[in-house]
Amino acid sequence: MEIEDVSRLVDRAFEIDDPTELETLGKERPAALTPFHLRLADSEFRWVADLYRAMSEETAAELIRRLDADDDPDGLLHMLAAGATATAFRHEPVGRLSHAGSWERTPSGAVRRLSSAVAVALTPGSPAVSGGRLGECGWCGFPMWRLLDVPRASLPDLFGSGPGQIVIATCTLCGSYATIFNDSAGRFVAFAERPAAIPGKWAPHELDGLPDAPALGLGAARPSPFAGNAWEEGGSTLGGSPQWIQDPEFPSCPRCSETMPFVGMVTGGDLWADYGEGCFYLFHDAGCGLSAVVYQQS
Ligand SMILES: [Zn+2]
Ligand SMILES: [Zn+2]
Repeated sequence: MEIEDVSRLVDRAFEIDDPTELETLGKERPAALTPFHLRLADSEFRWVADLYRAMSEETAAELIRRLDADDDPDGLLHMLAAGATATAFRHEPVGRLSHAGSWERTPSGAVRRLSSAVAVALTPGSPAVSGGRLGECGWCGFPMWRLLDVPRASLPDLFGSGPGQIVIATCTLCGSYATIFNDSAGRFVAFAERPAAIPGKWAPHELDGLPDAPALGLGAARPSPFAGNAWEEGGSTLGGSPQWIQDPEFPSCPRCSETMPFVGMVTGGDLWADYGEGCFYLFHDAGCGLSAVVYQQS
């Protein structure tokens, strides 16, 4: 796509007040939007994180210069956070929104990445790396469902090339109410109080509500780390960067209190054959051997 074509897409997004087409382009080819970030800063689209993934250092510096005179500085800070430039890393106020760009500043001032540059589609196929029962929920007794089961070395920029497996499971009943933690074998670990909203015991007919779509295996590499899609069947991804349906929600590890890095997402549409909404976001702390699942829906 030529730069003129992208320019027309930007015009059209302003015209119809809908950034969806631009967002799709930004997810697959982030650099195509790099020349348009300052124009987008003058729009209502400041909070669409996937428009700003390939920001230039010059643009970041210009946005920082504009901050004081702008009447929506948080919108500019969000763009800077999503852009994840070295310039943004150094500008202290951006840190407050940094999870929008899957990074954070450590107490010592270093920058820590919370997602992987490796992104691989999870698609129906074998060998399965997602799917099947895995023990029971410690809160309600419902079967836990395996969402991911891959070697840590699949995401070497997060976990290196050493041994170990990422096994992540959730309770599809309780998972809508609270973050579900599990140990290195995928077993439920009770780190939080059982949320009051959770029904005491599931009814037999609820077993019919267990995921019933074909198990997911590894598919093709995504064209960019941002190309997974939380909203759709076919959007499930190992690694990459989360597309949040609500606000960014990286859990803290209950053992060491560190923010847990994102290792993938599995959409409701890929779990259930006929219906299925929302998205399960997956996190893994290799040091503590703990994983977590956060569920969001619109
Ligand atoms: Zn449960
Ligand atoms: Zn930890």
